[in-house]
Amino acid sequence: MTIYYSILLFILGSALGSFYTVLATRLPLKRSIIKPRSHCDNCGHILTAWELIPILSYVILRGKCSKCRQSIDPTSTVVELFLGITFVLAYLYFGFSLNFYLLLIILSLVAIIFVSDFKFMVILDSPLIISALLVIGLKIYYVGMTETIYSICYGLITFAVMYLFKLLGDFLFKKESLGGGDIKLSFLFGLILGWQLGLLTIAVGSFIAFPIALYVTMKKTKNNEIPFGPYLILGLLVVFFFGETILKFIII
Ligand SMILES: [Zn+2]
Repeated sequence: MTIYYSILLFILGSALGSFYTVLATRLPLKRSIIKPRSHCDNCGHILTAWELIPILSYVILRGKCSKCRQSIDPTSTVVELFLGITFVLAYLYFGFSLNFYLLLIILSLVAIIFVSDFKFMVILDSPLIISALLVIGLKIYYVGMTETIYSICYGLITFAVMYLFKLLGDFLFKKESLGGGDIKLSFLFGLILGWQLGLLTIAVGSFIAFPIALYVTMKKTKNNEIPFGPYLILGLLVVFFFGETILKFIII
């Protein structure tokens, strides 16, 4: 059964990866996710069914359009592989439990936010709203209504703290310091992990982002804005696994 579920989850992960890439590359440009159908950006060739199979098509086509031989953007294939593999690992590690489903939601957000925030400096609202609703549903099912209401309050705490950071940042730097997406995203930290680990997520995310921000600032390129979302969501992934250990280490 383990092998059977692993194969199914790999297919699910890679199919979702394909869908998420479409979502994360089209919605920021206000383009429909249904039309136009997936096509080659160079020659406009509309992809046929066998050219749309996650991962396999890219391998068979050796990364090139079947018509004009232009290289295909590998983003989608990387996302498909990432989610296919991590969905299986999540199942092997947790089995079908609350943590397994929470981890699938976090991994999905990692994929979507990495693509949309690095490409367009945007964190989409719809994945955040759907994730929050899924987490609330899962919590009601697994831990009950009272605990879930607490979780929502913890989410509001991490949201409020992040909002205060934004006000402080805007004041100090005299410009927009944090995007609205980063603040909305931080609601999920408290909702998923509670207020302590939720706040730790913001700290860990900033800790990961800091050296990169420093590097970009030192390079003094024209556009020295860096997206914060990818580091925050990586922080969530780190704290999801190691948060308790990190807390013990800090508090002693
Ligand atoms: Zn082409």
